[in-house]
Amino acid sequence: MTDSETLYDLLLDLDNRGYKAYKDIQGRYEFPNFTLIIDYVQGDPFAAPSKLRVRVPQSVAGFPGDLYDTPSRSVALRDYLTRQFDRGCRQVSQSRGTGKSGSIAVCRMGQEVLDRTSARINKDWVELRFVVGLPARGRSILGRQAAYMLCEDIPKLVDRALVYTYLDSEAIRRHVETIEDADWLRSKLNERDLVAFVADGAILPRRSGVDDRPLLKNAVPFSSPDSLRVTFDRPNGGAISGMGIPKGVTPIFGGGYHGKSTLLKSIELGVYNHVPGDGREFVVTDPTAVKIRAEDGRYVVGVDISAFINNLPQGQPTTSFSTENASGSTSQAANIVEALEVGAKVLLIDEDTSATNFTIRDRRMQQLIAKEKEPITPFIDRVRQLFEERGVSSILVMGGSGDYFDVADTAIAMTEFHPSDVTQEVRQIAAEFATGRQPEGGTGFGEIRSRSIDPDSLDPSRGKRSVKWQVRDIDEIAFGTSDIDLSAVEQIVDAGQLRSIAEAMVYLKQEYADGRRTLVELLDFIMSDVEQQGLDVLSPFPQGDLAQFRRFELAAALNRLRTLRVFDFLKQEN
Ligand code: ADP
Ligand code: MG
Repeated sequence: MTDSETLYDLLLDLDNRGYKAYKDIQGRYEFPNFTLIIDYVQGDPFAAPSKLRVRVPQSVAGFPGDLYDTPSRSVALRDYLTRQFDRGCRQVSQSRGTGKSGSIAVCRMGQEVLDRTSARINKDWVELRFVVGLPARGRSILGRQAAYMLCEDIPKLVDRALVYTYLDSEAIRRHVETIEDADWLRSKLNERDLVAFVADGAILPRRSGVDDRPLLKNAVPFSSPDSLRVTFDRPNGGAISGMGIPKGVTPIFGGGYHGKSTLLKSIELGVYNHVPGDGREFVVTDPTAVKIRAEDGRYVVGVDISAFINNLPQGQPTTSFSTENASGSTSQAANIVEALEVGAKVLLIDEDTSATNFTIRDRRMQQLIAKEKEPITPFIDRVRQLFEERGVSSILVMGGSGDYFDVADTAIAMTEFHPSDVTQEVRQIAAEFATGRQPEGGTGFGEIRSRSIDPDSLDPSRGKRSVKWQVRDIDEIAFGTSDIDLSAVEQIVDAGQLRSIAEAMVYLKQEYADGRRTLVELLDFIMSDVEQQGLDVLSPFPQGDLAQFRRFELAAALNRLRTLRVFDFLKQEN
């Protein structure tokens, strides 16, 4: 008798027994064409579903090595296979009883192509990880249904998604080549002194505020101004042209509803790759670009925001600023300094989500409210220092203030969704109409130092469980007993990233946090482990729902953990 027949009979035997008896099926089963591994069996039909894997030998799967022989290609192929498996799951998944009974699913995926733990591939096998709601009526096992799911449906899914000869080889190649080209483009930005590239023909607007797919009707394709057009010769797709945004300070001007925020949003998400057909697959951005916004109410601990904020009422220190409840401007200042602390080289700011008093302070206001009575040094007085002293570029959507004419290296204007290069015009206007502002930036931006994390303040325990965390959509991590609000961290795009970040926080505490190491050192350790060993290094058991994240978003989660404490050794030694 084969293992699959054994499993079939075992499930029939379990029919009508109490749900806990399902625990007996945990283990490994050799099916004719693949291995089924049942890693974890759920405790009841409403609990988190059971975790399974299929491993198909390459003798059956037959994927040509050149489809996965580089990191870019491997990510792309695994993404394709996960999506294909997902389609299959949707076809066979059905309600077969109580709670989650009958569901078969992989991780949820959006338009981004991310490295994930959902699929693995090497020269020996391809593995797919998924979850199954083992069927029951009430708490009684539905053995026949379970036997059908595991022994009939799953082999069908394997055939439909994991056997190369049954798949659309053209679509796979397009997927792999698109992702490889996008990674290649991103890697070339720096040597061309660019921070972002937006391809001609790209479709930037989305279908709706809650639908991330490309706008279908009346979408105006992107078209670069001639003066900013650059051309690249991609390894697979050949020549491509589009708008290159140079390093430096780049405001995006233009009337309301003319597409400014849509352009900036695409640039923000250009740190990730997108599926072919997304419209933004060749919008690529420097991987260290961080979206900055105001985020009043956020927690801040021990951040030196003195470049932006000084002389707060009641003598609150700003060289090591902490608050349970930041204001618009102090939160935006903290967001910038925290991003710089961990290596951001590009800042992205949209007036729609920016504190006005943080961004501008015009001549008249300088006259009315003396510098000594205004704690804020506005961004306009720092943006050039950031570039000249630290090599940090900024792209800012700025429909409301012409004061930024004075600080622009490149100026773009959006008119009816078309960009134009207004750099010369802006210089002329600035010469003709001086703002009369006094610069308030003093002699320079100043130092940025990394804080050391107090490991005791990073506590994932809850009640009797030493590690307990949970993710709510892309907005929140419940970590131990505290909730981390990430709704304002706009470059988190996938719940899998939050799960990885939660795992990384536990890992950081267990492996590296010693009270001396700085946040930067801790991030370096973790990101290098993930790069060398893959995301699986973060979790004690194989998980199928982790997705790649950047150091900036991990730092963002740590910085918003309301129990976090930091040591400022510099301060103690002084
Ligand atoms: P702004 O920031 O300049 O006020 P938005 O970027 O918010 O403008 O865009 C306004 C509206 O226009 C949005 O509904 C957006 O989806 C749509 N839009 C943006 N770019 C395009 C485009 N290229 N083609 C068609 N519609 C677009
Ligand atoms: Mg806008």
